[in-house]
Amino acid sequence: MNTTPLLNELARRPLCCDGAMGTQLLARGLKSGDCGMLWNLERPGDVGAIHQAYRSGGSDLITTNSFGGSRFALAPHGLAQRVAELNRAAAQVARAAAGDHGWVLGDVGPFGDFLEPVGDTTAEDLGAAFRDQIAALLAGGADAILVETMSDPAEAMVGVEAAKACAAQVPVLVTYAFQKTAPGQFRTMMGTGVAEAVRRATDAGADIVGANCGTSLGLDDYVELARQIVQAGSAPVIVQPNAGSPRVENGETFYHATPEQMADTARKLLAVGVRIVGGCCGTAPAHLAAMSRAVKQGVV
Ligand SMILES: [Zn+2]
Repeated sequence: MNTTPLLNELARRPLCCDGAMGTQLLARGLKSGDCGMLWNLERPGDVGAIHQAYRSGGSDLITTNSFGGSRFALAPHGLAQRVAELNRAAAQVARAAAGDHGWVLGDVGPFGDFLEPVGDTTAEDLGAAFRDQIAALLAGGADAILVETMSDPAEAMVGVEAAKACAAQVPVLVTYAFQKTAPGQFRTMMGTGVAEAVRRATDAGADIVGANCGTSLGLDDYVELARQIVQAGSAPVIVQPNAGSPRVENGETFYHATPEQMADTARKLLAVGVRIVGGCCGTAPAHLAAMSRAVKQGVV
């Protein structure tokens, strides 16, 4: 258990999060389309080794392997009945790797459909599903909740409210996935602009807001996006870029940014006021180790 409150430490120094989980699981033999969350129970050593690689590279924050851990996201795998067990295990594995001086972010990804009125799911049903997931993540030892890769601010708000209903004091981070619609302009897939996305997350009670992943964003786009997020509100900002804009070659997606390029991006993100940097798609422990060094040098 980390006894230093995350928000206190963040006020003192910028922090480094971790990088991608999915691609690391695939590299260890997960079959594409299979449920990576099952590995929290069936192959905890592999999941723990991925967390440990990020932690020993200098990541202060370790993200649980629970992106698709709501009952809605687990249902296609026939695992909707195992929300509590799978999420608790995810947090326990991350907790063991994070140690007493790292923080565990309990990861909550999109539920995989649209809320009413576009879709059939009510905010009440989604809230109940998120509360089940988050309660299990907290029971397993998560220090904070990360509601990530959000396109719809209404879904992000349901996530924040679910976390605060489980534990009023738990820090909640919200990150949106943006795409570039014109030079210097960013919107989520649902059409929400930066200022509105930030405002609705913080209005719901999010303690930290920002961006992760996204579509067709180059590294410099993330810096411009970060600048706009910092200007949009007063909450500390987190940005977790992909390893550059991907290229598709023979039907496979490749991310090409080097650890040095990601470290350079981390420095630029800190310079515009970001307080937590990390990585999304295509980032690996080597990228995060370089970014972590840049964050620590930036403190001096
Ligand atoms: Zn991503």
